[in-house]
This record gives sequence, structure tokens and C-alpha cells, in this order.
Amino acid sequence: MKQTLPGTCEPYLLRDGEGERYLVAGQLATVLARPEDTAGLLEAAIVSGRRNSVFPLHAHRSGHEAIIVLDGLVELRLGSSVHALRPGDYASIPPGIPHGYEMKGPYSRLLAWTVNGSASRLLAALGDPVGSETSGPADPAALSVERRALGQSAADVEFLDDAAGASPAPAIPAPPADVAAYVLTAGDGERMLAGDQLFTFLSHQGNTGGAFITLSTVGPRGGPIPRHFHAQHTETFFCLSGRMTMWNGDEEVTLHPGDFLHVPAGTVHAYQLDAPLTRFVGLLAPGLFEPFFRTLCDPCEDDLFPVVPRPVRFDRVMQKINELDLKLVGPPRHG
Ligand code: FE
Repeated sequence: MKQTLPGTCEPYLLRDGEGERYLVAGQLATVLARPEDTAGLLEAAIVSGRRNSVFPLHAHRSGHEAIIVLDGLVELRLGSSVHALRPGDYASIPPGIPHGYEMKGPYSRLLAWTVNGSASRLLAALGDPVGSETSGPADPAALSVERRALGQSAADVEFLDDAAGASPAPAIPAPPADVAAYVLTAGDGERMLAGDQLFTFLSHQGNTGGAFITLSTVGPRGGPIPRHFHAQHTETFFCLSGRMTMWNGDEEVTLHPGDFLHVPAGTVHAYQLDAPLTRFVGLLAPGLFEPFFRTLCDPCEDDLFPVVPRPVRFDRVMQKINELDLKLVGPPRHG
């Protein structure tokens, strides 16, 4: 398995800090997935910055963006609202919605996915490429008029005047039914339980127009899930905390926080959680695998996995297996 951006759609692993790196207005942007690496299905990048680092107000014509804060404090402007986002907080930003941010902590970091957009071309146009000798962000700098123009000609972006201003707005407890901009606080979302693993929908098919789903998964140390592959959708895994073993094709790897794994359609894979509490987040594109989680899981009010595992409803999955984009190649896990 490649451990670099492959340039063709295949499985690959990036360790924390690896990827294509740019300094953008002093922020370190590390591209984890470009269209050429994912058959055009998704892009991903990590952006880190020092206090007062700004990404100015802009909107995307076609890209739907989803971000999760990893470190620090990010003041996100989203439409006419302002949200103070801390680690684990999530925002969904459909096309056309004005957005931008200012990093308010000493060191802030976020993971941004983009579907149907051109985020990696934008970062390349706005930034200067840097090598592995640059391990962190530089002093904040303004994005010049020339850079903004380069970005606008390279990507589906328009930089906007911030004349209207914005006011604080609350996060919502669960994703809305239809396409809309929203923010979820860490732990919120639509929660479902299978065995001892808690799955939380951060975005579902309804509010991405079928473009993608995003899920956060948390659980204790456990056994492996069944080896399987998907014929139609790509899955990505980003480890947030703890430690997990993943099988991707023929290879076994251990993911630590900050590691990213790309599992395109057709790749046999499985995972196992190895630490007392492991949390990972993933974007799956296109958005068509939501029914699997609704079949496997039961709704969950609690915001952490239970002390005593509940049933894993693989029996229900097996009844519907022909309707789900799931091909099993190993024995099911029994919880
Ligand atoms: Fe899978």
C-alpha cells in the first residue's frame, strides 16, 4: 500500500503530517486527498494555524465542505452566524454558503473534506509549496489580492466582502433533514449503537443531496469487524484518538491519531479498535451507505458506548444484504 498521495485511485495511508503541503496566509495546509487520488469522489486537507490566522469570507459554487476541529479554537463564520468551534465540533457547508474563519487558540487545527469541489487546486493556488522541513504554521499573514484572484481562477471559489456582519448562533443537536449549513457540538449528531460501538451521523444522505455521509465512531478495545468491501463507494478513515488496527487489501496497519486511510471501492478491508477509547471519523462518498448503519444499529440516547455491549444486529444486515453496498468476505462479528 502506498504511503504517499498516489495520483491514481488506489488504497493509501498517510501518517500524521504527511501529504502535499502548502503555506497559505501563514497556515500550514496539508492535502490528504485530491480528485486524482479518489476518482474525483472527495478531497481532504488538514489546516493548522497560529492565533489570529484568518481564512477570509468566501463561497464555493459547487463544493460541499465538511470540517471538524482537531485542536484549539476556530471562530467559524457560516452564513450570517458565527460559531466558536472546539475539538470535535463539526460544520457542514453546502455550496453557495458564505464562510470563513479566524483561529483563536494558540494553535488550532481542522480537518476539511470537500465533495464536488476543487479544494486542493484552491490551496495550491493560494499557497506556496513547502517540504517536510516545515512542520508547523508560520506567523499569520493576509491573503493578498493577487492570491485571491489566482484562487478564483483556479477553483470554484469567490471571495466575498464582509459588509453584512454576523451574530452568534447556537449549534443544533442533530443534522437537519435537508441540505442546509449547520454546526454540531462534539458528541452531538444522530447516534446509533451496534454492540459496543457508537456511530454518530454528522452528515447523512438527505442533507448532502446524496453526495456523502460523515460518521464519527467511538468504542472500547474489541475484536475485528468482518472483512468486506464496497462495490460503489469509497470510505476514508481518520483516527482522532486511541489506536486501531486496519486491514486494507492484504496489508495490516496500525492507525494512530492523525493518520488517514483511503479505502476505495473494491478494496477488502476491516478494522479493530485497540485502545480503551478509540475514536475515528470518516467521510464516505458517494452517500449511499446510510441504510447499512440504520440496519445494523439501534438508536442511542447516550453519548458514549455502553458498559455492557448491546446486540449487533447482523441478522438484519443479512436479511437486506442484497440492498446494501456490502460484500462480506469474512465471518461476521458477534457482539
Ligand atoms: Fe467498510
